[in-house]
Amino acid sequence: MKPSKPTLFGLSKTPPVMNLLMKRCPQCEQLSFPANAPGCAMCGTCLANSPIEPHSGVGILKGFIRLNLPLTTGLQTPVLIGELELAPGITRQAVLDVIDPNLLYPDQALQAIGVPSNEPDHYDCVFRTSNKEES
Ligand SMILES: [Zn+2]
Repeated sequence: MKPSKPTLFGLSKTPPVMNLLMKRCPQCEQLSFPANAPGCAMCGTCLANSPIEPHSGVGILKGFIRLNLPLTTGLQTPVLIGELELAPGITRQAVLDVIDPNLLYPDQALQAIGVPSNEPDHYDCVFRTSNKEES
């Protein structure tokens, strides 16, 4: 199994938990995401020679919406899309795999999890609540 977006995420040492792949700027020491970004998001320093750092796949929920129509090819709807803070200053949108959206709340920590992709032998990344919050 391979990641569907290998510049964004990879399996951690405890699958299906995912790591997010980032780079740290040698100039200002801020993180940039994704790892293939050409330059630091804060100061623009070239990151070509910076090593990729795997970071915990925890995202802090800042908000979410429910999409009923697919806005991109391959997106299965209805789907919840969350606005997640992945690290200080790094916020991205991601698919939420949540049974009951009523259990979501601001600043909730969600975990990146690998799930089978529509592409054979690949996995995608979704964010879930911890199991105890949904049981
Ligand atoms: Zn920088």
